Amino acid sequence: MDDDLFSVKGKVVIITGGGQGIGEFLALGLSKRRAIVYCIDKKFKKSKNRRGLQDMLCDITKLDEIKSVCSEIIKRNKKVDVLINNAGITMPNNSDNYSLESWSKTLDINLTGAFSFTQQVLKQMKKNHSGSIINITSLNAEFGFPNNPAYIASKGGLKMLGKSLARDCGKYGIRVNNLGPGYILTKMTEKSYRNKKKYAARKANTMLGRWGKTSDLLGPCIFLASDASSYVTGQDIYVDGGWSANGLQDE
Ligand code: NAP
Repeated sequence: MDDDLFSVKGKVVIITGGGQGIGEFLALGLSKRRAIVYCIDKKFKKSKNRRGLQDMLCDITKLDEIKSVCSEIIKRNKKVDVLINNAGITMPNNSDNYSLESWSKTLDINLTGAFSFTQQVLKQMKKNHSGSIINITSLNAEFGFPNNPAYIASKGGLKMLGKSLARDCGKYGIRVNNLGPGYILTKMTEKSYRNKKKYAARKANTMLGRWGKTSDLLGPCIFLASDASSYVTGQDIYVDGGWSANGLQDE
């Protein structure tokens, strides 16, 4: 057995939205396995738990800020092995009243921000002829969830951006994949988690009969970041307790 197959030791990883939630958990998990992890976010809490992470302030809707953090990371390391496009927001409201302001903001962060960041990182990955890009999509990239048109459009777009870039970058030895979480308890979902009816409905749609935890995403993320997935590109991996394969809820 090859013990190094899933190793991320020494890999330079950038994760957007790494200040909290899924991004922070993945960052800590990769850092614990001796990856060199840069977290990108608009703000960071001071916490002992974040020891080992390199925090960099950057709003991913601002190209000059993206360029500045990317050039600093590349200056320090001469490479980027893994980019995790994780930063995202949701602004639910019904389609009839959905404001263009919320639409633009959601698309700017969830889709355009991911594209802009990826473009900057790809320049270096192409020079090194290697890299793995992981887009954090969602079940919303596949299904018509109610009252959240911009989020669903952004995640569907991110999913297809992943496939488009996988096609364009394969010749440079760069892999691009999508990791789609089901319902995971974070600040983004805590309102539904605390609502008895919504909590139960989301749980009932899974095959495993439970909400997800941020820790459920770490294994699949390590797989995509490491050489264990060396022939995997252009794929969607859903970490959803079986939600997307479920034919019928419990009767
Ligand atoms: P979260 O706790 O709200 O974390 C998202 C992080 O992204 C926050 O720290 C946020 O900062 C940051 N961010 C937002 N806009 C940014 C910008 N312009 N520049 C830099 N950073 C920015 O949410 P999460 O649940 O961990 O979600 C992480 C990703 O997983 C998102 O893409 C989300 O769509 C996806 N996802 C989550 C779930 C789930 O059930 N939780 C399910 C499917 C997909 P601020 O707080 O300052 O805005």
